[in-house]
Amino acid sequence: MSAPSKTSVVSGFYKLPVDQRRAFVKEFANLTNEEAELFSSCLDIQTADRMIENVLGTFELPLGVAVNFLINGKDYLIPMATEESSVVAAASNAAKIARAKGGFCTSSSAPLMIGQLQLLHVDDVVTAAEEILNHKDKLLALANAQDKILVNLGGGARDLEVRILDSPLGNMIVVHLVVDVRDAMGANAVNTMCEALAPMLEEITHGYVRLKILSNLADKRLVKATAVFDKEKMGGEHVVDAFLESYTLAAIDPYRAATHNKGIMNGIDAVIIATGNDSRAIEAGAHAYAARDGQYTSLTTYSKDTQGNLVGEIELPMAVGIVGGAANMHPKAKLCRKILGITSAKDLAEVAASIGLAQNFAALFALSTVGIQKGHMSLHAKNIAVMAGAQGDEIDKLAEKLVREGKVRLDRAKELLETLRKKSK
Ligand code: NAD
Repeated sequence: MSAPSKTSVVSGFYKLPVDQRRAFVKEFANLTNEEAELFSSCLDIQTADRMIENVLGTFELPLGVAVNFLINGKDYLIPMATEESSVVAAASNAAKIARAKGGFCTSSSAPLMIGQLQLLHVDDVVTAAEEILNHKDKLLALANAQDKILVNLGGGARDLEVRILDSPLGNMIVVHLVVDVRDAMGANAVNTMCEALAPMLEEITHGYVRLKILSNLADKRLVKATAVFDKEKMGGEHVVDAFLESYTLAAIDPYRAATHNKGIMNGIDAVIIATGNDSRAIEAGAHAYAARDGQYTSLTTYSKDTQGNLVGEIELPMAVGIVGGAANMHPKAKLCRKILGITSAKDLAEVAASIGLAQNFAALFALSTVGIQKGHMSLHAKNIAVMAGAQGDEIDKLAEKLVREGKVRLDRAKELLETLRKKSK
Protein backbone atom coordinates (compact mmCIF):
# COMPACT_ATOMS: atom_id res chain seq x y z
CA MET A 1 0.00 0.00 0.00
CA SER A 2 1.41 3.40 -0.84
CA ALA A 3 0.78 6.81 0.66
CA PRO A 4 -0.99 8.74 -2.13
CA SER A 5 -0.18 12.13 -0.61
CA LYS A 6 1.05 13.45 2.67
CA THR A 7 -2.09 12.51 4.48
CA SER A 8 -2.00 10.72 7.78
CA VAL A 9 -5.50 9.33 7.20
CA VAL A 10 -5.25 5.63 6.45
CA SER A 11 -8.34 3.58 6.79
CA GLY A 12 -7.75 0.09 8.11
CA PHE A 13 -4.10 0.80 8.90
CA TYR A 14 -4.35 -1.53 11.88
CA LYS A 15 -5.42 -4.41 9.62
CA LEU A 16 -2.32 -4.18 7.40
CA PRO A 17 0.57 -6.58 7.89
CA VAL A 18 3.55 -5.00 9.64
CA ASP A 19 5.68 -4.80 6.45
CA GLN A 20 2.95 -2.82 4.67
CA ARG A 21 2.61 -0.44 7.59
CA ARG A 22 6.37 0.09 7.47
CA ALA A 23 6.22 0.72 3.73
CA PHE A 24 3.50 3.34 4.22
CA VAL A 25 5.47 5.17 6.91
CA LYS A 26 8.64 4.94 4.80
CA GLU A 27 6.93 6.69 1.93
CA PHE A 28 5.12 9.23 4.14
CA ALA A 29 8.32 10.26 5.90
CA ASN A 30 10.73 9.81 2.96
CA LEU A 31 12.82 7.34 4.92
CA THR A 32 15.92 5.87 3.31
CA ASN A 33 16.21 2.08 3.10
CA GLU A 34 18.76 2.23 5.88
CA GLU A 35 16.40 4.21 8.10
CA ALA A 36 13.49 1.89 7.36
CA GLU A 37 15.64 -1.08 8.35
CA LEU A 38 15.90 0.39 11.83
CA PHE A 39 12.30 -0.72 12.45
CA SER A 40 13.50 -4.28 12.78
CA SER A 41 16.71 -3.60 14.69
CA CYS A 42 17.52 -3.27 18.39
CA LEU A 43 19.67 -0.67 20.09
CA ASP A 44 23.28 -1.82 19.64
CA ILE A 45 25.03 -2.85 22.81
CA GLN A 46 27.89 -0.35 22.43
CA THR A 47 25.44 2.57 22.34
CA ALA A 48 23.50 1.13 25.29
CA ASP A 49 26.76 0.77 27.21
CA ARG A 50 27.49 4.45 26.67
CA MET A 51 24.01 5.49 27.84
CA ILE A 52 23.79 3.92 31.30
CA GLU A 53 25.95 1.98 33.74
CA ASN A 54 26.31 -1.78 34.29
CA VAL A 55 24.64 -2.61 30.96
CA LEU A 56 23.55 -6.18 30.35
CA GLY A 57 21.43 -5.78 27.25
CA THR A 58 18.49 -3.76 25.97
CA PHE A 59 14.78 -3.82 26.81
CA GLU A 60 12.32 -3.60 23.93
CA LEU A 61 8.94 -1.89 23.79
CA PRO A 62 6.43 -2.02 20.94
CA LEU A 63 6.76 1.01 18.63
CA GLY A 64 3.53 1.92 16.84
CA VAL A 65 2.32 4.92 14.92
CA ALA A 66 -0.82 6.96 15.52
CA VAL A 67 -2.60 8.01 12.33
CA ASN A 68 -5.11 10.73 11.37
CA PHE A 69 -3.37 13.62 13.15
CA LEU A 70 -3.82 17.09 11.73
CA ILE A 71 -1.93 19.68 13.78
CA ASN A 72 -1.91 23.33 12.73
CA GLY A 73 -3.02 22.23 9.27
CA LYS A 74 -0.19 19.70 8.81
CA ASP A 75 -0.55 15.91 8.73
CA TYR A 76 1.45 13.88 11.22
CA LEU A 77 2.10 10.21 11.76
CA ILE A 78 3.04 10.04 15.43
CA PRO A 79 5.43 7.33 16.65
CA MET A 80 4.49 5.94 20.05
CA ALA A 81 6.55 3.56 22.20
CA THR A 82 4.31 1.94 24.78
CA GLU A 83 3.52 -1.41 26.33
CA GLU A 84 -0.16 -0.53 26.92
CA SER A 85 -2.76 -1.87 24.53
CA SER A 86 -5.41 0.45 23.02
CA VAL A 87 -3.34 3.62 23.47
CA VAL A 88 -2.31 3.95 19.81
CA ALA A 89 -5.76 3.01 18.53
CA ALA A 90 -7.48 5.46 20.90
CA ALA A 91 -5.23 8.36 19.88
CA SER A 92 -5.79 7.62 16.19
CA ASN A 93 -9.54 7.46 16.69
CA ALA A 94 -9.64 10.76 18.60
CA ALA A 95 -7.51 12.41 15.90
CA LYS A 96 -10.01 11.24 13.27
CA ILE A 97 -12.89 12.87 15.15
CA ALA A 98 -10.89 16.09 15.73
CA ARG A 99 -9.99 16.26 12.02
CA ALA A 100 -13.57 16.96 11.02
CA LYS A 101 -13.33 20.37 12.71
CA GLY A 102 -9.78 21.19 11.62
CA GLY A 103 -7.67 19.04 13.95
CA PHE A 104 -5.46 20.40 16.70
CA CYS A 105 -4.30 24.00 17.10
CA THR A 106 -1.27 24.56 19.25
CA SER A 107 0.87 27.28 20.74
CA SER A 108 3.79 27.39 23.13
CA SER A 109 5.87 29.78 25.16
CA ALA A 110 9.63 30.26 24.72
CA PRO A 111 11.74 27.25 25.86
CA LEU A 112 12.52 28.74 29.29
CA MET A 113 13.76 26.40 31.99
CA ILE A 114 14.32 27.25 35.64
CA GLY A 115 17.40 26.38 37.67
CA GLN A 116 17.27 26.73 41.46
CA LEU A 117 20.01 27.81 43.87
CA GLN A 118 19.20 27.40 47.55
CA LEU A 119 21.00 29.96 49.74
CA LEU A 120 21.32 29.25 53.47
CA HIS A 121 22.91 31.00 56.47
CA VAL A 122 22.09 34.47 55.16
CA ASP A 123 21.72 36.98 58.04
CA ASP A 124 19.52 39.57 56.34
CA VAL A 125 17.57 37.86 53.55
CA VAL A 126 15.83 41.02 52.36
CA THR A 127 19.06 42.97 51.85
CA ALA A 128 20.74 39.90 50.35
CA ALA A 129 17.88 39.46 47.90
CA GLU A 130 18.27 43.10 46.80
CA GLU A 131 22.02 42.64 46.41
CA ILE A 132 21.50 39.59 44.20
CA LEU A 133 19.20 41.57 41.93
CA ASN A 134 21.74 44.44 41.87
CA HIS A 135 24.26 41.96 40.46
CA LYS A 136 21.84 40.42 37.96
CA ASP A 137 23.76 41.41 34.81
CA LYS A 138 27.05 40.06 36.16
CA LEU A 139 25.39 36.79 37.26
CA LEU A 140 23.66 36.32 33.90
CA ALA A 141 26.92 36.99 32.06
CA LEU A 142 28.67 34.37 34.18
CA ALA A 143 25.89 31.87 33.45
CA ASN A 144 26.13 32.57 29.73
CA ALA A 145 29.90 32.13 29.75
CA GLN A 146 29.24 28.44 30.53
CA ASP A 147 27.46 27.65 27.26
CA LYS A 148 28.70 29.56 24.23
CA ILE A 149 26.96 27.14 21.87
CA LEU A 150 23.59 27.86 23.43
CA VAL A 151 24.21 31.62 23.41
CA ASN A 152 25.31 31.54 19.76
CA LEU A 153 22.06 29.75 18.93
CA GLY A 154 20.08 32.62 20.44
CA GLY A 155 19.49 30.99 23.83
CA GLY A 156 21.12 31.45 27.21
CA ALA A 157 20.39 32.84 30.67
CA ARG A 158 17.60 35.40 30.48
CA ASP A 159 16.60 36.37 33.98
CA LEU A 160 17.12 35.95 37.70
CA GLU A 161 14.27 35.80 40.18
CA VAL A 162 14.70 35.83 43.93
CA ARG A 163 12.31 34.20 46.38
CA ILE A 164 12.44 34.29 50.16
CA LEU A 165 11.01 31.13 51.70
CA ASP A 166 10.07 30.49 55.28
CA SER A 167 11.36 27.07 56.36
CA PRO A 168 12.03 24.99 59.49
CA LEU A 169 15.67 26.12 59.04
CA GLY A 170 14.59 29.79 59.14
CA ASN A 171 14.34 32.09 56.14
CA MET A 172 16.13 30.92 53.05
CA ILE A 173 16.66 32.51 49.67
CA VAL A 174 15.95 30.60 46.49
CA VAL A 175 17.33 32.09 43.33
CA HIS A 176 15.71 31.09 40.05
CA LEU A 177 17.91 31.24 37.00
CA VAL A 178 15.74 31.40 33.89
CA VAL A 179 17.44 29.97 30.81
CA ASP A 180 16.31 29.82 27.20
CA VAL A 181 17.47 26.32 26.24
CA ARG A 182 16.38 26.47 22.59
CA ASP A 183 16.04 22.92 21.23
CA ALA A 184 17.44 21.12 24.27
CA MET A 185 15.57 19.65 27.21
CA GLY A 186 18.07 21.74 29.12
CA ALA A 187 18.78 19.92 32.40
CA ASN A 188 22.54 19.62 31.91
CA ALA A 189 22.83 23.10 30.45
CA VAL A 190 20.94 24.67 33.37
CA ASN A 191 22.68 22.58 36.05
CA THR A 192 26.08 23.63 34.72
CA MET A 193 25.09 27.31 34.86
CA CYS A 194 23.68 26.96 38.39
CA GLU A 195 26.87 25.38 39.66
CA ALA A 196 28.91 28.16 38.11
CA LEU A 197 26.83 30.85 39.84
CA ALA A 198 27.11 29.41 43.35
CA PRO A 199 30.47 30.96 44.37
CA MET A 200 29.45 34.42 43.15
CA LEU A 201 26.13 34.23 45.01
CA GLU A 202 27.94 33.21 48.19
CA GLU A 203 30.28 36.16 47.79
CA ILE A 204 27.38 38.59 47.25
CA THR A 205 25.25 37.34 50.15
CA HIS A 206 27.85 35.90 52.59
CA GLY A 207 25.61 32.85 52.67
CA TYR A 208 26.07 29.24 51.64
CA VAL A 209 24.62 27.63 48.50
CA ARG A 210 23.33 24.11 49.14
CA LEU A 211 21.25 22.96 46.14
CA LYS A 212 22.00 24.00 42.58
CA ILE A 213 19.69 22.10 40.26
CA LEU A 214 17.04 22.38 37.57
CA SER A 215 13.36 22.53 38.54
CA ASN A 216 11.14 20.09 36.68
CA LEU A 217 8.19 22.39 37.28
CA ALA A 218 8.90 24.03 33.94
CA ASP A 219 6.02 26.47 34.20
CA LYS A 220 7.69 29.01 31.94
CA ARG A 221 7.86 26.42 29.17
CA LEU A 222 4.19 25.75 28.56
CA VAL A 223 2.46 24.24 25.60
CA LYS A 224 -1.20 24.41 24.71
CA ALA A 225 -3.34 22.39 22.29
CA THR A 226 -7.00 22.82 21.50
CA ALA A 227 -9.45 20.89 19.34
CA VAL A 228 -13.13 20.89 18.55
CA PHE A 229 -14.77 17.45 18.56
CA ASP A 230 -17.77 17.31 16.28
CA LYS A 231 -20.97 16.48 18.18
CA GLU A 232 -22.37 14.42 15.30
CA LYS A 233 -19.21 12.32 15.09
CA MET A 234 -19.50 11.79 18.84
CA GLY A 235 -23.08 10.49 18.46
CA GLY A 236 -25.05 13.64 19.24
CA GLU A 237 -25.17 16.46 21.75
CA HIS A 238 -26.32 14.12 24.53
CA VAL A 239 -22.93 12.37 24.28
CA VAL A 240 -21.19 15.76 24.57
CA ASP A 241 -23.25 16.37 27.72
CA ALA A 242 -22.35 12.94 29.11
CA PHE A 243 -18.70 13.67 28.32
CA LEU A 244 -18.84 16.98 30.20
CA GLU A 245 -20.43 15.24 33.21
CA SER A 246 -17.54 12.75 33.25
CA TYR A 247 -14.96 15.52 32.87
CA THR A 248 -16.40 17.49 35.81
CA LEU A 249 -15.28 14.86 38.30
CA ALA A 250 -11.66 15.21 37.15
CA ALA A 251 -11.92 18.98 37.51
CA ILE A 252 -13.03 18.81 41.16
CA ASP A 253 -11.63 15.58 42.59
CA PRO A 254 -7.94 14.57 42.82
CA TYR A 255 -8.82 10.85 42.94
CA ARG A 256 -10.35 11.09 39.49
CA ALA A 257 -7.89 13.75 38.25
CA ALA A 258 -4.94 11.40 38.91
CA THR A 259 -6.44 8.73 36.63
CA HIS A 260 -7.59 11.32 34.09
CA ASN A 261 -4.06 12.77 33.88
CA LYS A 262 -2.54 9.28 33.77
CA GLY A 263 -4.56 8.74 30.60
CA ILE A 264 -3.14 11.96 29.15
CA MET A 265 0.36 10.74 29.94
CA ASN A 266 -0.37 7.40 28.21
CA GLY A 267 -0.11 9.33 24.96
CA ILE A 268 2.51 11.90 25.92
CA ASP A 269 4.94 9.41 27.48
CA ALA A 270 4.73 7.16 24.43
CA VAL A 271 5.88 10.03 22.19
CA ILE A 272 8.44 11.19 24.75
CA ILE A 273 9.98 7.70 24.92
CA ALA A 274 9.88 7.21 21.13
CA THR A 275 11.81 10.46 20.65
CA GLY A 276 14.44 9.67 23.30
CA ASN A 277 13.21 12.22 25.81
CA ASP A 278 13.01 12.07 29.60
CA SER A 279 9.54 10.81 30.55
CA ARG A 280 10.16 11.30 34.29
CA ALA A 281 10.91 14.98 33.71
CA ILE A 282 7.70 15.38 31.70
CA GLU A 283 5.64 13.44 34.28
CA ALA A 284 7.05 15.45 37.20
CA GLY A 285 6.38 18.74 35.42
CA ALA A 286 2.86 17.73 34.38
CA HIS A 287 1.71 16.57 37.81
CA ALA A 288 3.31 19.49 39.66
CA TYR A 289 1.61 21.85 37.20
CA ALA A 290 -1.71 20.06 37.77
CA ALA A 291 -1.42 21.00 41.46
CA ARG A 292 -0.24 24.57 40.89
CA ASP A 293 -3.27 26.18 42.57
CA GLY A 294 -3.01 24.04 45.70
CA GLN A 295 -5.40 21.30 44.58
CA TYR A 296 -4.44 18.62 42.08
CA THR A 297 -6.76 18.89 39.07
CA SER A 298 -7.19 17.99 35.40
CA LEU A 299 -4.59 19.09 32.85
CA THR A 300 -7.38 19.40 30.30
CA THR A 301 -10.51 21.55 30.24
CA TYR A 302 -13.66 20.97 28.20
CA SER A 303 -16.68 23.05 27.27
CA LYS A 304 -19.38 23.20 24.61
CA ASP A 305 -19.33 25.69 21.74
CA THR A 306 -22.44 27.52 20.57
CA GLN A 307 -23.26 24.69 18.12
CA GLY A 308 -23.05 22.05 20.84
CA ASN A 309 -19.67 20.62 19.78
CA LEU A 310 -17.12 19.69 22.40
CA VAL A 311 -14.13 22.01 22.80
CA GLY A 312 -11.07 20.53 24.48
CA GLU A 313 -7.90 22.20 25.66
CA ILE A 314 -4.72 21.00 27.32
CA GLU A 315 -1.96 23.08 28.89
CA LEU A 316 1.14 21.71 30.57
CA PRO A 317 4.91 22.17 30.82
CA MET A 318 6.80 20.34 28.08
CA ALA A 319 10.56 20.17 28.57
CA VAL A 320 11.55 18.19 25.50
CA GLY A 321 14.64 18.29 23.35
CA ILE A 322 15.75 17.27 19.89
CA VAL A 323 19.42 17.65 20.84
CA GLY A 324 21.29 16.29 23.86
CA GLY A 325 20.47 13.33 26.07
CA ALA A 326 19.23 10.12 24.44
CA ALA A 327 17.54 12.13 21.67
CA ASN A 328 20.86 12.24 19.84
CA MET A 329 22.25 8.86 20.82
CA HIS A 330 19.36 6.51 20.17
CA PRO A 331 19.01 5.70 16.44
CA LYS A 332 15.28 5.01 16.79
CA ALA A 333 14.74 8.39 18.48
CA LYS A 334 16.24 10.03 15.40
CA LEU A 335 14.08 7.85 13.16
CA CYS A 336 10.96 8.83 15.10
CA ARG A 337 11.81 12.53 14.75
CA LYS A 338 12.13 12.03 11.01
CA ILE A 339 8.73 10.30 10.88
CA LEU A 340 7.29 13.25 12.75
CA GLY A 341 9.01 15.63 10.34
CA ILE A 342 9.88 17.98 13.19
CA THR A 343 12.96 20.16 13.34
CA SER A 344 12.49 21.95 16.66
CA ALA A 345 11.77 21.13 20.29
CA LYS A 346 8.79 23.49 20.00
CA ASP A 347 7.21 21.32 17.28
CA LEU A 348 7.80 18.18 19.31
CA ALA A 349 6.26 19.78 22.41
CA GLU A 350 3.18 20.78 20.42
CA VAL A 351 2.78 17.27 18.95
CA ALA A 352 3.09 15.81 22.46
CA ALA A 353 0.41 18.16 23.81
CA SER A 354 -1.91 17.28 20.91
CA ILE A 355 -1.57 13.57 21.53
CA GLY A 356 -2.19 14.16 25.25
CA LEU A 357 -5.45 15.89 24.44
CA ALA A 358 -6.39 13.20 21.90
CA GLN A 359 -5.69 10.44 24.41
CA ASN A 360 -7.72 12.14 27.10
CA PHE A 361 -10.62 12.76 24.75
CA ALA A 362 -10.60 9.10 23.66
CA ALA A 363 -10.63 7.83 27.25
CA LEU A 364 -13.44 10.13 28.40
CA PHE A 365 -15.41 9.45 25.23
CA ALA A 366 -15.24 5.70 25.87
CA LEU A 367 -16.00 6.14 29.57
CA SER A 368 -19.00 8.31 28.78
CA THR A 369 -20.42 5.83 26.25
CA VAL A 370 -19.47 2.15 25.97
CA GLY A 371 -16.99 2.07 28.88
CA ILE A 372 -13.27 1.59 28.67
CA GLN A 373 -13.15 -2.21 28.60
CA LYS A 374 -14.69 -2.71 25.17
CA GLY A 375 -11.77 -1.13 23.35
CA HIS A 376 -9.28 -2.95 25.55
CA MET A 377 -10.81 -6.37 25.07
CA SER A 378 -9.35 -7.63 21.84
CA LEU A 379 -5.69 -7.06 22.77
CA HIS A 380 -6.37 -8.02 26.37
CA ALA A 381 -7.90 -11.28 25.13
CA LYS A 382 -4.69 -12.00 23.20
CA ASN A 383 -2.67 -11.48 26.39
CA ILE A 384 -5.01 -13.83 28.28
CA ALA A 385 -4.72 -16.39 25.46
CA VAL A 386 -0.90 -16.29 25.73
CA MET A 387 -1.14 -16.59 29.53
CA ALA A 388 -3.33 -19.69 29.05
CA GLY A 389 -0.57 -21.24 26.96
CA ALA A 390 -1.79 -20.54 23.41
CA GLN A 391 0.88 -20.47 20.72
CA GLY A 392 1.04 -19.31 17.09
CA ASP A 393 -2.35 -19.38 15.36
CA GLU A 394 -4.01 -20.53 18.57
CA ILE A 395 -3.59 -17.03 20.07
CA ASP A 396 -5.88 -15.23 17.61
CA LYS A 397 -8.41 -18.08 17.49
CA LEU A 398 -8.65 -18.27 21.24
CA ALA A 399 -8.77 -14.47 21.70
CA GLU A 400 -11.61 -14.25 19.17
CA LYS A 401 -13.61 -16.89 21.04
CA LEU A 402 -13.05 -15.16 24.37
CA VAL A 403 -14.23 -11.79 23.02
CA ARG A 404 -17.24 -13.38 21.28
CA GLU A 405 -18.28 -15.04 24.52
CA GLY A 406 -17.64 -11.85 26.48
CA LYS A 407 -15.67 -13.89 29.03
CA VAL A 408 -12.08 -12.72 28.78
CA ARG A 409 -10.86 -14.76 31.75
CA LEU A 410 -7.87 -17.02 32.25
CA ASP A 411 -9.89 -20.00 33.54
CA ARG A 412 -12.17 -19.86 30.49
CA ALA A 413 -9.19 -19.40 28.16
CA LYS A 414 -7.62 -22.60 29.52
CA GLU A 415 -10.85 -24.55 29.00
CA LEU A 416 -11.26 -23.25 25.46
CA LEU A 417 -7.63 -23.96 24.60
CA GLU A 418 -8.04 -27.55 25.73
CA THR A 419 -11.14 -27.95 23.53
CA LEU A 420 -9.42 -26.28 20.59
CA ARG A 421 -6.44 -28.64 20.85
CA LYS A 422 -8.67 -31.71 21.19
CA LYS A 423 -10.57 -30.70 18.03
CA SER A 424 -7.43 -30.22 15.99
CA LYS A 425 -6.02 -33.65 16.91
P1 NAD B 1 22.87 18.18 26.75
O1 NAD B 1 23.71 18.90 27.75
O2 NAD B 1 23.31 16.83 26.31
O3 NAD B 1 22.65 19.08 25.46
C1 NAD B 1 22.37 20.44 25.55
C2 NAD B 1 23.52 21.21 24.99
O4 NAD B 1 23.61 21.00 23.59
C3 NAD B 1 23.34 22.71 25.15
O5 NAD B 1 23.81 23.12 26.41
C4 NAD B 1 24.13 23.26 23.98
O6 NAD B 1 25.45 23.53 24.35
C5 NAD B 1 24.13 22.15 22.96
N1 NAD B 1 23.29 22.42 21.76
C6 NAD B 1 23.62 22.13 20.48
N2 NAD B 1 22.63 22.48 19.64
C7 NAD B 1 21.64 22.98 20.40
C8 NAD B 1 20.34 23.51 20.11
N3 NAD B 1 19.85 23.58 18.86
N4 NAD B 1 19.56 23.92 21.13
C9 NAD B 1 20.02 23.85 22.40
N5 NAD B 1 21.24 23.40 22.74
C10 NAD B 1 22.05 22.95 21.75
O7 NAD B 1 21.37 17.97 27.24
P2 NAD B 1 20.38 18.85 28.10
O8 NAD B 1 19.18 19.09 27.24
O9 NAD B 1 21.00 20.02 28.76
O10 NAD B 1 20.00 17.79 29.24
C11 NAD B 1 19.10 16.74 28.97
C12 NAD B 1 19.48 15.50 29.72
O11 NAD B 1 19.62 15.77 31.11
C13 NAD B 1 18.42 14.45 29.62
O12 NAD B 1 19.03 13.23 29.26
C14 NAD B 1 17.84 14.35 31.04
O13 NAD B 1 17.39 13.04 31.30
C15 NAD B 1 19.03 14.70 31.87
N6 NAD B 1 18.83 15.21 33.23
C16 NAD B 1 17.58 15.55 33.72
C17 NAD B 1 17.44 16.06 35.00
C18 NAD B 1 16.08 16.46 35.48
O14 NAD B 1 15.13 16.38 34.74
N7 NAD B 1 15.92 16.92 36.74
C19 NAD B 1 18.59 16.26 35.78
C20 NAD B 1 19.83 15.92 35.27
C21 NAD B 1 19.95 15.42 33.98
